[in-house]
Amino acid sequence: MVWGTNLLLGGLAASAAYRLARNPRDFVDAPAHAINGVLTFNERLSTQDLQAARQMVLDRFGPYIPPRSTCHGVEPQLAFEIGNAAGAYHSNPRGKGPMLVVAPYQRAGTGRHAVAHELVHCYTDPAIYDKLIGDEAGQQLLDALTEHLADKLPGMRFGKWSEYDRTTMSNGRNMVAAAAELEQAVGEEVLLRAMFGGDAEAVKAVSRAAVELFPKRPTPAAWSAIAKAGSKRGAPEMAEAYIAACLMHENALPSDGDSRIWPGAHLPQQRFSDITRSQKNALLSQARTMRERVGAAAFDQAFCNFDDRAALVAMRAVRADLVANWKRVL
Ligand SMILES: [Zn+2]
Repeated sequence: MVWGTNLLLGGLAASAAYRLARNPRDFVDAPAHAINGVLTFNERLSTQDLQAARQMVLDRFGPYIPPRSTCHGVEPQLAFEIGNAAGAYHSNPRGKGPMLVVAPYQRAGTGRHAVAHELVHCYTDPAIYDKLIGDEAGQQLLDALTEHLADKLPGMRFGKWSEYDRTTMSNGRNMVAAAAELEQAVGEEVLLRAMFGGDAEAVKAVSRAAVELFPKRPTPAAWSAIAKAGSKRGAPEMAEAYIAACLMHENALPSDGDSRIWPGAHLPQQRFSDITRSQKNALLSQARTMRERVGAAAFDQAFCNFDDRAALVAMRAVRADLVANWKRVL
């Protein structure tokens, strides 16, 4: 699981500092958890389990993890107060660096896998992690890739079964199966170089493959690409097509609450919500025609890459078509 800041501030961080649990005190600190743990024969994670999980991750992925990774200094903590999640990771919840917490009681046989999943988050390079953590669709991609990598580690198959393995995404694909397909498309070497090393070319390749396999949604990276790709000409057309892509793929205008995207950068509108119904329809019908003209793949690559470089290359590829054919609506 990855934690958005809001959830974290609302729960764990706003409460008293999470407690480092010790077995004899479980019934005092958190009787419900402890009793539930006994009755359902769940396993109780130990410090040794936490260390063993880290060793598994380093044995398998160590060659791809750079010495500069801040995760080398992050100690997993056992904590009761993380709701229903088996574990959670946040890169900087209170401005004091990363935090990795796991629930002391885990479904029997699954504990080390749960820790390993959070450690993969922790070791994921900011070039991917920071790009994806900001919204729900990005978090889904991040969790899918993370669970797929954690599934490569030693252990019984049933012990690696998680919520992610049975989650069907809005595009009809299974989350973890889509991550496995992504690996087939780019190769394991490229996936690992991207995830743990943040290698620029590898991240670009992962981003492109993700557009095909995961639910499509226009990204802040694509919005940023408009300024560069359209610096001479075409930025307003690109911005209109971006908004149209949001209407097409998400059935909604871009959010006015996202500070990374502001319509005033390229258009007369100060707020996306000022766009009228008839303007929406005009945008959408042009975008449908454009998508047929340039091809669905080129259209989606232009607007749905999470990686800045991949987004810029793809935006440049549709620029000429937009300049030649797009009729301004806004
Ligand atoms: Zn996760």
